[in-house]
Amino acid sequence: MRICWFNEDRLGVVQDGVVIDVTDALKALPAPRYPNRVGDLVLAHLDALRAAIEELPSGAPTYPVQKVRLLSPVANPGKIVGVPVNYQKHVEEAAADVATFTRRETGSVLEQGFFLKASSSLIGCSQAVRISMPERLTHHEIELAAVIGKKASNVVQADALSYVAGYTIALDMTVRGAEDRSLRKSVDTYSVLGPWLVTADEIADPQRLGLRLQVNGEDRQVANTSEMLVYIAEQISWVTRFYTLEPGDIIMTGTCEGVGPVVPGDLIRAEIELIGSMEVAVAASTPLAR
Ligand code: MN
Repeated sequence: MRICWFNEDRLGVVQDGVVIDVTDALKALPAPRYPNRVGDLVLAHLDALRAAIEELPSGAPTYPVQKVRLLSPVANPGKIVGVPVNYQKHVEEAAADVATFTRRETGSVLEQGFFLKASSSLIGCSQAVRISMPERLTHHEIELAAVIGKKASNVVQADALSYVAGYTIALDMTVRGAEDRSLRKSVDTYSVLGPWLVTADEIADPQRLGLRLQVNGEDRQVANTSEMLVYIAEQISWVTRFYTLEPGDIIMTGTCEGVGPVVPGDLIRAEIELIGSMEVAVAASTPLAR
């Protein structure tokens, strides 16, 4: 199943280039109650939602995918976990350009561990990345995102993928510089998810997926998730020794070589095998609020 949020917070299922409005199925979920400690309700109750969708009467509104505005397919992540330098050739390109990449940390994910991105930075692919600091270098990073479906703490590798509800394409947009990653990668609009969430049952092996990112039609990043240094199951096992993952939490599983700058006016196209592709505009930020 391919799930999206679209237009004015409508819930959709994507089939053959068409978005079916299944918002009515949300009635099957428990109402949010304070204090909400379950994470994202849709991800926490995906099986119930799927059953409710299948029972919806026919005749729901449908739209061509190209005609809807796609929002983040995860509405309320508690946290976004980042995995730095998790492809060997990206380790090498970072080491070769210390001025841009490695003023603070060096080495791969094995030396550096993980980091967090603010959930307020999250947008969908129809909402432009906005460059608020044009004097700073902003880079694109395409990543496979794994979205958690149930509470996970101290998970062993052999069980880890069973905690993943689905996969989607992520852009871990990054201001280069010397500050902490949690600052440079949490700028508003600097976390993009899309175009939709593909449930895990449709992706037999997340470690055999081709990735491709183009800017203005030119290839920048082309790789395969098989080239990760630390695989997703190991990431989940490692991360959950430090913090509990909850439904809706997102792991951006690391980017491959070929990262590079974008500026307002650019168009990013990101594609991952078995998920699909998305186009994301890069725009200038709105002026500072007075
Ligand atoms: Mn990244």
